[in-house]
Amino acid sequence: MSKKIVLKIGGSVLKNQDSVQKIINILKSYEQKPVIVVSAFLGITDKLKESLENLLSEESSLNRIFEEILHFKSSIIIELIDNDKIRQNTLDELNKELRNLRQYLQGIYYIRYIPEKAHDYVLSFGEKLSVILLKGVFADKNIASEIVYPEKAGLVTDGIFGNASIDLIAAKKQVPINFTKDIVYLVPGFYGVSKKSELTLLGRGGTDYSAAAFAYCLDAESLDIWKDVNGFMSGDPKHVNNPQRIKHLTYSEAAELAYFGAGILHPRTVEPVRLANIPIRLFNINNADKKTAQTIIDNNISIHPEVSKSVTVDKNTGILKLQGPGVGYIPGILSEITKELHLHNININSVITSQIAINLLIDKDIIDKAYQLISKLNLQVLTNIIVKKDVSLIAVVGNGMTEAYGVAARILSAVSEHGINIQLSSIGASDAVTYLIVDEKDTNKALTEIHYTLFEKNAKQEINSYLN
Ligand code: ASP
Ligand code: MG
Repeated sequence: MSKKIVLKIGGSVLKNQDSVQKIINILKSYEQKPVIVVSAFLGITDKLKESLENLLSEESSLNRIFEEILHFKSSIIIELIDNDKIRQNTLDELNKELRNLRQYLQGIYYIRYIPEKAHDYVLSFGEKLSVILLKGVFADKNIASEIVYPEKAGLVTDGIFGNASIDLIAAKKQVPINFTKDIVYLVPGFYGVSKKSELTLLGRGGTDYSAAAFAYCLDAESLDIWKDVNGFMSGDPKHVNNPQRIKHLTYSEAAELAYFGAGILHPRTVEPVRLANIPIRLFNINNADKKTAQTIIDNNISIHPEVSKSVTVDKNTGILKLQGPGVGYIPGILSEITKELHLHNININSVITSQIAINLLIDKDIIDKAYQLISKLNLQVLTNIIVKKDVSLIAVVGNGMTEAYGVAARILSAVSEHGINIQLSSIGASDAVTYLIVDEKDTNKALTEIHYTLFEKNAKQEINSYLN
């Protein structure tokens, strides 16, 4: 049997009858029978989150949300499944899952307490409903498929609720034995299970990451991610003028772009596939030519003549400034601080230090908690701790940053020439990224000017034309 291809079908293309129809067409265009890792339908994960958050205060919201979900899915089923028996079976299975979920939520309502694991369990239902629905639609079109749940497949995680990491070594031992038939497999994405068999989410947008892990475990030919956009671009069309599509990225470039806010991929997607050199191919479901990938991500080095390939923004990173004379040379401070944050599962995105200040870059939604934890340590050397949330991090990504002359200078001067103040910057943290932090109010201007300088001003050649 030839190698398997793993497809990831995201929420952006799981919307309505029309999009499900497009998925069937895609499936027919593949020669092999793929393993399809599926997201929840658009908006369903948020609805489940809302139902859990409102549960203790407002039980009636549950009924409303359940009705919305069922109505939405039933309309697709009724529209797309012609065969009476398959239609009824699919509706029954969907109802069974929803009954399980309702019972679980009612249990929480009675004990009036939401355990940590409940969040993960409840939010995973969106993906479970998707695979049931797609299996029914496929069966109606004579496409035989089998659902494999991550708990059955052995997608083992480290057990951290809400943001688990996949244990690739353990998973690889178990996953392949569950995918031996020449049949289409459907797998709900977004979660794995801990060694204690508890269901753990892989972070929002985590279906990309689970699909990458399945691709790795199955030694797939490629990981094909289907979206409704044109792959990676030189900048976000919402912020910059004339962004160009990027046909090729290395794993490192894609990882940096995803890490620094390009919402197109879960930041950890690259990790499993690069271990086995499996290419990621991004496709646009609305593009008639389904054989042409919008962006290909692999190990081949491609250095753009301009070095930079894309500019992106992360609006969720803030700065925690720890000031004090000599913090830079007194040993042990950083380790004490990072140990405390680690104990509370707070991730530090980056550290930039000087003699009198340590700057920790931390997500804005947890930076206040980090502030409190560090304040409580009562470190004598710290005279002042400042939280800065009114900032944006702008990253420019492209291989060869540390070797090419003048790239950082061009980026920095594009910004400073327009009177934009740079709060912090980091050059050469990896060979593929330079980033700077600017005042939030200057975000759009900075993005536009950097994009103009790097990709529009001297655009003698089309980006990536060197690849053709
Ligand atoms: N449904 C999940 C989310 O909305 C996971 C995913 O779509 O990748 O975050
Ligand atoms: Mg996503």
